[in-house]
Amino acid sequence: MRRRKKGKIHLGQTQRILLAAGAVLLILILVLAVIRTRRRPQPPPLQAESIRPEDKNTSSESMSPEEAAYWAGCPELDVQLLTPNAHSRPQLPLVEINGIVIHYTANPGSTAQENRDYFENLGSSDEDLYVSSHFVIGLEGEIIQCIPSSEMSYASNDRNTDTLAIECCHPDESGAFTPATYSALVELTAWLCKAFDLTPDDVIRHYDITGKDCPKYFVEHEDAWERLKSDITEQYMSLV
Ligand SMILES: [Zn+2]
Repeated sequence: MRRRKKGKIHLGQTQRILLAAGAVLLILILVLAVIRTRRRPQPPPLQAESIRPEDKNTSSESMSPEEAAYWAGCPELDVQLLTPNAHSRPQLPLVEINGIVIHYTANPGSTAQENRDYFENLGSSDEDLYVSSHFVIGLEGEIIQCIPSSEMSYASNDRNTDTLAIECCHPDESGAFTPATYSALVELTAWLCKAFDLTPDDVIRHYDITGKDCPKYFVEHEDAWERLKSDITEQYMSLV
């Protein structure tokens, strides 16, 4: 009896030791996991905090290697920032950039300059209209930047607060882009993805937010949208 009892106690002790060892091991694993998480390389800081697309013209001289890497692949931008106004450039801060939204102007044959000037003139109009875009790409592939990337545009409804907007000109009612507009769009979007730590998965249509028929051709032709996304991805992969 005594021996059995003793054996029983002994077994209990072993269990306790095993339990304690298990607990220590668990704590060790947890500590290691925390250390690993802390050591995991953090994503690079939003470079746009220090350099922004609209600054290219002023920072092109004496670039540091870091700056040169940032600008690699950036298409030529014609920076014509809108005069601050409530209708198109409210100067509301864009704190986060989580996506890029593609639009079409819905105004066949209009140029990038005309669309930019339309936004500009809204500022002095009495119309109850609030419209703008960070970038407008013209029929010849020219890119006009209207809003700094640190500020919100009025283009994408609920996603104005965390996206950059690109309006594309188009020659006719179909909403299809000219090859020049298309190429510039691919280049600009891929570069913006790189510059703002996004991926081509973060590129969406206005349609994906509101169901609006915008950009018309790429809503009505899903295959064309898929092709555009894949062309953006290919260009993006060449930059990163
Ligand atoms: Zn739109």
